[in-house]
Amino acid sequence: MIVCSGKSVFEGIAIGPIHVYKKEEQSVKRTKVTDLDAEVARYTAARETAIEQLQALHDKAVVEVGESGAEIFEAHQLMVEDGDYIDSVENIIRTQGVNAEYAVAQTGDNFALMFSEMDDEYFRGRAADIKDITERLITILSGGAGGGLDSDEPGIIVADDLAPSETVQMDKDKILAFVTVHGSANSHTSILAKTMSIPALVTCDISLEDTDGKLAVVDGYEGVIYIDPNPEILAQKKEALAKEQEKKELLLQLKGKENVTLDGQKINIYANIGNTKDLALVRKNDANGIGLFRSEFIYLGSDDYPTEDQQFAIYKQVAETMAGKKVIIRTLDIGADKQADYFELPHEENPAMGLRAIRICLTRPEIFKTQLRALLRASAYGKLAIMFPMIISVEEVKKIKEIVAEVEKELDAADIKYDHDIELGIMIETPAAVMIADELAEEVDFFSVGTNDLTQYTLAIDRQNQTLDSFYDSHHPAILKMLKMIVDAAHRHNAWAGICGELGADLTLTKEFLAMGFDELSVSPGRVLPIRKIVLETDVAEYKKSKGE
Ligand code: PEP
Ligand code: MG
Repeated sequence: MIVCSGKSVFEGIAIGPIHVYKKEEQSVKRTKVTDLDAEVARYTAARETAIEQLQALHDKAVVEVGESGAEIFEAHQLMVEDGDYIDSVENIIRTQGVNAEYAVAQTGDNFALMFSEMDDEYFRGRAADIKDITERLITILSGGAGGGLDSDEPGIIVADDLAPSETVQMDKDKILAFVTVHGSANSHTSILAKTMSIPALVTCDISLEDTDGKLAVVDGYEGVIYIDPNPEILAQKKEALAKEQEKKELLLQLKGKENVTLDGQKINIYANIGNTKDLALVRKNDANGIGLFRSEFIYLGSDDYPTEDQQFAIYKQVAETMAGKKVIIRTLDIGADKQADYFELPHEENPAMGLRAIRICLTRPEIFKTQLRALLRASAYGKLAIMFPMIISVEEVKKIKEIVAEVEKELDAADIKYDHDIELGIMIETPAAVMIADELAEEVDFFSVGTNDLTQYTLAIDRQNQTLDSFYDSHHPAILKMLKMIVDAAHRHNAWAGICGELGADLTLTKEFLAMGFDELSVSPGRVLPIRKIVLETDVAEYKKSKGE
């Protein structure tokens, strides 16, 4: 038995034969050409073919791994069309009088080297993408077929490195795991592995020689591959795999089920998203709605204030995709750790306690109103709700409602349709909001507890500061008491209450949240079904009795 270790990108266990993925040797020869225009035209045609191939790969990936997994092929299309890359290839052809294959290979090497020397890890990771598009162009120019796998049986794919296009072209039913000698955990191949929920190891000290066809076990929990495992290891891992598969199947059976406890208590399990690309995962995991759309990511991904129409298009898409299920969009929560230069926010000593979130919206109402108009307009296309972050006072909520009413009046005057009954809610993220929860609940339709910030402000622990991790107790009794106070206050005033901070996804507290009476938990999409499982198995009355309540 040989044991090799690597960095685990996705946890899970796979057992099967190793299939070594061989790249087609791309030996590019430098040859002299005389008709330079024809050579440039040959390169232009190869580029067009590459774009078509990448579009086909993109479409395939959208179906197989969703929009976010397919994104890389859009990026590759942009790279193929990159002006600097094209200039470099054409320049080499014309000035050196050489063949297009050589000019592309040369350009690819230069650009990959440039990226690999950059300080930023993200850009270093892009060197692999440059190599990928370069190989594609050379394959097209030389009429080659590309690399591949020899076997049709499902197996563990072992490779020196894998380009995203190679990964996506493989038949998913035949991949049990990925193991690569190179590759970073942030590479798109790793991201694809995660999206496909396949165990994967990168930077693994495995040899590609004499491993093809051998039986192996990949353990993504330990970050290890066992080649020719001994009988004990094999038996042990087979048992673990059977348990894992059982768990997965059970979770899938929960799709379409109502979230209702054994004694009939219902709860909504919604998903948190940061952009429209996450919608595929929301649907795949059967969330009942979206409990937190962090709209500031639209602002963070933009060089300037996103316009009303740009925002409207995004909110409308989310509302329509969720087809009548509730979508709670949080108004922009910029500031603190989320900075966009064009806001030109002042330098602050304590940005987490500075000009952020609703404070920016109330001091710069023009930005706020643009977002509110976009949100209200989109509310005509689904079931939207709006939620405001970082609230500390009733006056703030009253002011917000005044501004919403102003925007509604403007829309009425312009005869623009919107949902007149749209729900308005606030995030409970500050101890102040907890203490005046009764007064706040009278003003709104719902509360959603942002436990990330509430814990930071209650325990006085900067959530960004890793050195304080040992002091950060997410189960601190103060937080649990506050949660109960919040839900009780909401219910006293006919409002509903949910949790959208990370604590909502803590499976060790699901029963507790049910016992407290929460109406909703909003969590990352992959957590929806595990929570549903607990809900279905819980008898809340029994649980409370067991705690002496
Ligand atoms: C929170 O504070 O718990 C929350 C959900 O908001 P964010 O993490 O975006 O600050
Ligand atoms: Mg927050």
